[in-house]
Amino acid sequence: MSRYAEPMARLIEELKKLPGVGTKSAQRFAFHILRSTDEDAAALAEAVRGLKANLRLCSICNNVTDVDPCAYCVSPTRNHRMVCVVEEPTNIAAIERTRGYQTGSQAGYQGVYHVLHGTLSPLHGVGPDQLRASTLLTRVERGEVDEVILATSPTLEGEATAHWLAGALRGFPVRITRIATGVPAGSDIEYADEVTMARALEGRREV
Ligand SMILES: [Zn+2]
Repeated sequence: MSRYAEPMARLIEELKKLPGVGTKSAQRFAFHILRSTDEDAAALAEAVRGLKANLRLCSICNNVTDVDPCAYCVSPTRNHRMVCVVEEPTNIAAIERTRGYQTGSQAGYQGVYHVLHGTLSPLHGVGPDQLRASTLLTRVERGEVDEVILATSPTLEGEATAHWLAGALRGFPVRITRIATGVPAGSDIEYADEVTMARALEGRREV
């Protein structure tokens, strides 16, 4: 039996489901919320509820968005024929940071995105059918794309995913490129700084 009253034990159990939150942290958060004002507690609950109620995936690129299509997909200042493929929505931030960094003739990435929501992982039972690649393949098949930049992480799963996607796109009149290995091998592109990421993009090669 829990030594906490039921409502407290319940919140601690829910908080422990968050990544990186152990029992100690969950207890600290729960007691912090207990001590906070009714308004702050309600605002937190509403923010959590609103996240699920108001966010969806963009029907074009699978980015998480509150409006469909997302802001990137409708932007008139972006090159919609250049598509950068990433594993997770959070990876977009790493690419977007390059827009403040001048490389060669371009000020960072100017194209749009496609989010796969995962990588191939045979060990965990994730095959091509579990990735959200179909809308990208459709865009390419329709001739709407000039270049697909494979910006999955340089991990085993990321490389396997890039290799599979390059194979699936082969045969269509589209340039397929892979970001350079400026991003340290085995690391997640989410943590790449803007200079490293800008160089990785600029140094991309045909695959
Ligand atoms: Zn979109």
